[in-house]
Amino acid sequence: MKPAPTSGYHVRRLYQGRRLDNARAARYRWTYYDTHPRRHAVEAQRLKTIDDLLDCEDERVELIGGIKPAGSGPADPSLQADSRSAIAAASDQTEALDRLYEDLRRCRRCPGMFGPPVHGLAVRSPVMMIGQAPGTREIEQGRPFCWTAGKTLFRWFESIGINEAGFRARVLMSAVCRCFPGKNPKGGDRVPDRVEVENCTPWWRAELETGQPRLIIPVGKLAIAQFADQLPARARLDLLVGRQWPYRSATGLAVDLIPLPHPSGASTWFKMEPGLTLLPQALRLIAAHPAWQDVL
Ligand code: SF4
Repeated sequence: MKPAPTSGYHVRRLYQGRRLDNARAARYRWTYYDTHPRRHAVEAQRLKTIDDLLDCEDERVELIGGIKPAGSGPADPSLQADSRSAIAAASDQTEALDRLYEDLRRCRRCPGMFGPPVHGLAVRSPVMMIGQAPGTREIEQGRPFCWTAGKTLFRWFESIGINEAGFRARVLMSAVCRCFPGKNPKGGDRVPDRVEVENCTPWWRAELETGQPRLIIPVGKLAIAQFADQLPARARLDLLVGRQWPYRSATGLAVDLIPLPHPSGASTWFKMEPGLTLLPQALRLIAAHPAWQDVL
């Protein structure tokens, strides 16, 4: 019987007939999990090991890394070996992120912040996005960028090849602060203070070192400011957006930075010059980056 057109089936159809390289193969398993945490909870629990995956007859995973469907003859052993190591590496990273998020959800370090802390999916990705802080809707739903600013942000990313579901499943979504800072009496959300930023910094730094991305997309001034020590002194948004910057983490990880403005409806920066020109310029840089190409 033809499987129901779930999003899992949709993911499979995207790959059908295409040879998956190992990076894609490794990612595929997690995409499969992460896009259906409830619907496929049973399968996700059952497929704990690489051998489970290789033996699995579920048609949504039969295409991984050249592993052939049941009954179609032996798979290419070298490809299987490569796939095993690629999937094992992905598994280690995502499990480390899962453990990190378990700890993060318990964090109550900041008395002036409103939780529970929000995080994205534990995905292995060459691209990491860092936002500012969640709003009330994000706290309610437990998902970053799930409201109006998110709609604008995902529209930007869709214009360069990846829709919201794909982005959530394939890009590591982080933030400077993970709790809601409360409202600013003058309007909008309060910007987290220095102590709150310092308290929360170890979380995104741990995600960075665990995920080892090759491209970071800081979104908005507060996120960009976290990299200020390696950016031109006192550079304004219009000198930073639309360009790519090298960054080296505390442990020596070399990453490219391509900053974006904050997509908040309260911001007018990207709706008038020079933002009107610089935003598409930044999106073109992201689209051309090899790490972005890898998540498409
Ligand atoms: S903002 Fe960050 S450091 Fe502060 S309580 Fe929330 S998760 Fe913890």
